[in-house]
Amino acid sequence: MADTKAAEMKVKVVTEPSLMTGAVPTHDWWDVEAIFKPGNYCYPAKKSIAEYHGKNLPGLFGEPRDWDIESDDWALPENWKEIIINGIKERLDKFRSLKIFMDCCVRCGACADKCHFFLGTGDPKNMPVLRAELFRSVYRNDFTTAGKILGQIAGARPMTFKVLKEWFMYFYQCTECRRCSVFCPYGIDTAEVTMMGRELLHLVGVNTNWILEPAANSNRTGNHLGLQPHTFKENAEFLLDDIEEATGVKLNNLTFNRKGAEVLFIIPSADVFADPGIFTFMGYIMLFEHIGLDYTISTYSSEGGNFGLFTNNQLMKKLNGKMYAEAKRLGVKWILGGECGHMWRVVHQYMNTMNGPADFLEIPKSPITGTVFENAAATRMVHISEFTADLIHQGKLKIDKNRNDNRIVTFHDSCNTSRGMGLLEEPRYIINSVCNNFYEMPENTIREKTFCCGSGTGLNTGEIMDLRMRAGLPRANAVKYVAERHGVNMLANVCAIDRATLLALNQYWNPEVQVCGISELVGNALIMEGEKERETDLRGEPLPGMEG
Ligand code: SF4
Ligand code: SF4
Repeated sequence: MADTKAAEMKVKVVTEPSLMTGAVPTHDWWDVEAIFKPGNYCYPAKKSIAEYHGKNLPGLFGEPRDWDIESDDWALPENWKEIIINGIKERLDKFRSLKIFMDCCVRCGACADKCHFFLGTGDPKNMPVLRAELFRSVYRNDFTTAGKILGQIAGARPMTFKVLKEWFMYFYQCTECRRCSVFCPYGIDTAEVTMMGRELLHLVGVNTNWILEPAANSNRTGNHLGLQPHTFKENAEFLLDDIEEATGVKLNNLTFNRKGAEVLFIIPSADVFADPGIFTFMGYIMLFEHIGLDYTISTYSSEGGNFGLFTNNQLMKKLNGKMYAEAKRLGVKWILGGECGHMWRVVHQYMNTMNGPADFLEIPKSPITGTVFENAAATRMVHISEFTADLIHQGKLKIDKNRNDNRIVTFHDSCNTSRGMGLLEEPRYIINSVCNNFYEMPENTIREKTFCCGSGTGLNTGEIMDLRMRAGLPRANAVKYVAERHGVNMLANVCAIDRATLLALNQYWNPEVQVCGISELVGNALIMEGEKERETDLRGEPLPGMEG
């Protein structure tokens, strides 16, 4: 029987004005071709990088080659369609959720205007329902009776090069943020459809360098930039000088690869080399000194981020594995994790089943307050915001919150920490404890309904800056609202990718608003033992009252 709802949707899309532009489409959506031009696609992976991954995980990355996205010859393997269809079959068998997501969408449209890519570009194929339909139409063609018999009438279409181009275009215009799933009455998670789509593209060697190169670096040296252990260590040590300059206190509490430490601390590596992440790192280290935490940092598991999440399950598992491997080698009791977004989605949703159980670790217990983090009983890994909030709640920190009075702060919930792990209250509790001026952005843009930065899942690359500024528009618009209404000048967050992408986004849309991690605000407020009269914050900017 024909799928009448799919047919209705097609008619609507072609005969009614677009929600965003008011334009009346003149073609059926699947007759509109994806056209690649500079600025709307990420560059493909270098051949050497694809080779590297192919050697490590054979069969998952297609044939390494140089190829041109703008041409009509992507140098695909001869049997590429068969590879994709077999890949879909394998994933339908393996992931029950995929089969359900393929079958149970009723095209109600509740998700249609919830995606920042649709809101920012006005492109109908960026509606989550239509993004999933790019995949679903092929699924119907090869895996449903109606699709096999009725073809297009049933919303089915065969896999063709034109479809493959659409997949590459629109599965890389989705940041897998899951905002759409919050509004779907059936809980359909279009992010998972995108993830499957990207996995399938990798099988035929269709990829992006911005994702695969950091993933290769991370596999080889432990972090995205490919920093060697001594460089990673030196970068971190260099920041102690900056702490001394701001506080007058020379810390010597950085330890690397120290066996027998109580806690292994894992950060997103951007926190030791990129502004403003370095200020977040300074905040972590000051906090650990303040409470006398017995911790160490691994120079091999020197990256919390995991670009495998944006690639395929196997690479995600491999990159994640080093966390437990290092915790075991160093003999720590539990793991503390820094301010990262997607690292926490991997940790919270997948780590235990992928690489656990971590029975060799203890259920995390704060050595300072005695609090047992039962929520981390499975992973044995605690988020720095949970740890810090508990310290504040138990009165263990000496704080002068007036030092942050030059900051009028709002908080961006990172998609992965909010929707991916439910970390909603702790960051707010910390900010309110260390700052006097905090204002929330509008309700429908925060917490579970937060708008993505627009550049997550490996899309934070320069060649698609125009697209990123469009996709980040809903987030930027909410920032502008609080900037204009309350004078907000600082956008705090708990994600390294956010610290990079929101910086660029604000420079474009809200140049008066800076970006920080919340541990930076903690570091500014902490009263350190033996400190001098503090005149500047960790950025070297004058504290309130010290401007002259
Ligand atoms: S997961 Fe996010 S980016 Fe992807 S379709 Fe849904 S709302 Fe859009
Ligand atoms: S909200 Fe859910 S059921 Fe409705 S169109 Fe979107 S994905 Fe389909």
